Amino acid sequence: RHLTAPPGAMNGHFALVGDGEDMNFDHGIQVIDENKEFNDNLNAYLQHEAIVPAGFNYHLISVFGSQSTGKSTLLNTLFGTDFGVMSEQDRKQTTKGIWMSKNKRKEVTSPKKGGGVTLRMADNILVMDVEGTDGRERGEDQDFERKSALFALATSEVLIVNLWETQVGLYQGANMGLLKTVFEVNLQLFLKDSKTIPRSLLFFVIRDYLGTTPLSNLRQTLLSDLSRIWASLSKPSGLENSSISDYFDFAFVALPHKILQPDKFATEVQELSLRFREGDFKTAARRKTGALGLDGDDADEPILRPEYHRRIPADGFSVYAKGIWDQIESNKDLDLPTQQELLAQFRCDEIARDVLVPFDAAIAPLEARHAEGARKGEPLVLDALGKTMNTVRAQALQDFQSEAGRYHKGVFSRKRAELEDKIDDRLKTLWRAQLSAAQKVGVANFSEAVSAAVKNGQKKAGGQYDFAKIVEAEKMKAVKRFADVASETEVKGASWSVYEQDLGLFKKELDEVSKRLRREEMRRLATRVERWVRSKLGESVGLEFNKLGSGRGGSGAPEEGDRGDEKDIWDRVWHVFTDSVTHAEERFTDRAKSFDASPEEVEVGLWRLRRKSWGALRAKLDEELMEGNLLLKLRENFEDRFRYDHEGVPRIWRPTDDIEGIYTTARQATLHLIPLLSRFKLRETGSNPPLAAWVGEAPTGVSPADEEDLAPIGGVDEDEGKSLEEEMTVLGDAKQQDLSTRFKKMADGVYVEAKRSAIGGVTQ
Ligand code: GDP
Ligand code: MG
Repeated sequence: RHLTAPPGAMNGHFALVGDGEDMNFDHGIQVIDENKEFNDNLNAYLQHEAIVPAGFNYHLISVFGSQSTGKSTLLNTLFGTDFGVMSEQDRKQTTKGIWMSKNKRKEVTSPKKGGGVTLRMADNILVMDVEGTDGRERGEDQDFERKSALFALATSEVLIVNLWETQVGLYQGANMGLLKTVFEVNLQLFLKDSKTIPRSLLFFVIRDYLGTTPLSNLRQTLLSDLSRIWASLSKPSGLENSSISDYFDFAFVALPHKILQPDKFATEVQELSLRFREGDFKTAARRKTGALGLDGDDADEPILRPEYHRRIPADGFSVYAKGIWDQIESNKDLDLPTQQELLAQFRCDEIARDVLVPFDAAIAPLEARHAEGARKGEPLVLDALGKTMNTVRAQALQDFQSEAGRYHKGVFSRKRAELEDKIDDRLKTLWRAQLSAAQKVGVANFSEAVSAAVKNGQKKAGGQYDFAKIVEAEKMKAVKRFADVASETEVKGASWSVYEQDLGLFKKELDEVSKRLRREEMRRLATRVERWVRSKLGESVGLEFNKLGSGRGGSGAPEEGDRGDEKDIWDRVWHVFTDSVTHAEERFTDRAKSFDASPEEVEVGLWRLRRKSWGALRAKLDEELMEGNLLLKLRENFEDRFRYDHEGVPRIWRPTDDIEGIYTTARQATLHLIPLLSRFKLRETGSNPPLAAWVGEAPTGVSPADEEDLAPIGGVDEDEGKSLEEEMTVLGDAKQQDLSTRFKKMADGVYVEAKRSAIGGVTQ
């Protein structure tokens, strides 16, 4: 923090430099001080003057010339500034270093045009008052005057070269020597690698013009001097043949003596200030028309032309100017384009950080919600995510475009691409998470919806529903929902944001789920059909075995034929069984077809059905032929033969009856049943039923899951070590033996009772 007295602060007003808030800018700002220090408050000043947000809408003008030639006075008159001016009394240098001030004037009335024409000067004209050359007060130190002149030349659109008429034609007096050095270094430092030639206007203001020598003569003299200087420059390689008019335009004006002709001076300066308006781009062709392509007689032409502008946005100017100064100071072999690129990088990075703040604020909470959903295992489909993503993305890129687009094009587009990558990295992850959530939620919803529709269908009368239709309808809904979410989430302009493949995968997954649901549905159907088979067998097979009890094949009229039927019992059981299963198979096939089940799936289902049905039959046989049940059946069978005659009339035993004969025949007949019932053997063929052929080989489509609940069947399943013979054996030898013995005892008891009743009957 140090105190600096502004040059014009005759009233003792001091500016406090270094404190952003209460700095005094009444006299502009000292951009570079006498110690060649660049002022870091330059941006604060530009801010103070509201130039920072102006983008390109500002202009920079410098003055160049010997000391005490009235430069500051001219600028103050032209722009209403308050640069320090030497007092008439002590002729001492006042301007130290380089000062900058904003033009204070806006509208200027043209004195020449009868005062009736009022024109607006260009907006935001920044004027730099440069310490005069000649080094009078600085002794032989030409370092500063070179550097400050170079600084003015490198940054300004218009360089006012201020000189007395008497100096024209004097090599030293008109600072031509200095100009030569400055031109040379400017070429070396800033112009040698530049792709586009930046153009400046050298505006010669001839002071104390007497009016005796025509201005055009003075102009010619100055131009030929300049051409000579240019020819004598040592130019960087590649620029050997360049001409001064490649880099400069020229304009000339002459002003009367301020002290001797104050009114005329005032009028002329007033008129001159009108020229600081924005002009058109001057075409090369037009430039060529004048001598050296110079500004000829267009004395009224505006001088601030677009081609002079350095295209440094105002908010980057302070950084840019400091870079230029540092480069001049250190004399590093850097050039202007590099400065511009460095500046562009710096500013683009800053702007990118800025635009990412609102982006992050909008996106981070969404990312958090997705992450939480993933952690909890509850995938979340965010509403209107695409809308948010598109809005914030476009906003960020647009903000970047408008803020950073003014900077070096190459750097800008590279930084824009970097920013886009950064943004899209984030959005892509979010987009991915959304699609993945949509897919998971979609599959779960689909599965639930199908199950619910099936349940609904089952409740309906008849329980008829078309599974395939349900699946198709729900699939369409699910696909639409997914596509809706996916297309809503699409990020416009992002090449990665395409969901066709995801949609394809989603459909595939739905197909997988459909297949699983269909298999479950098939299982349910199979279970229903199996249950039906079991109950059918329970009834029909039970009936066949109950017939045994009658000994005559039924409770109806006694027919001889019925007795013979006992020997066919297994044939009938087999037929009842195969008929029932065949019927069930038809039902199964019909229903399965309505599911759109594949022929393979149907075949597996049928194969399982046959095996399970056999299992059901086998269980039914075991139940019917349990020892107790069987003994009861044998007893009924025997008693029916023994106690009833052929007519079905109960016998009243008399002593004369051949009780023993009848008993022996009946017992024998019933005993025959034991070996008959012990084995499932068909009478037709005299062998086991063709179970293996009937069940059939396992179809190729059988999966381990299909076989899970299937019991092995002897003689059908290889590697089971159980023969078909064993499978068909209902009672083993020992059991048969035991059963015979118990049956005989029971029969004996019946016989004894009959005997007793015969005798008793006689006695009574
Ligand atoms: P600078 O700082 O070198 O640009 O010059 P100043 O603007 O400080 O003026 C130096 C002296 O010249 C002051 O005393 C002014 O009054 C005087 N001066 C200003 N304008 C003119 C002019 O047009 N002709 C002459 N002869 N003197 C002038
Ligand atoms: Mg001055």
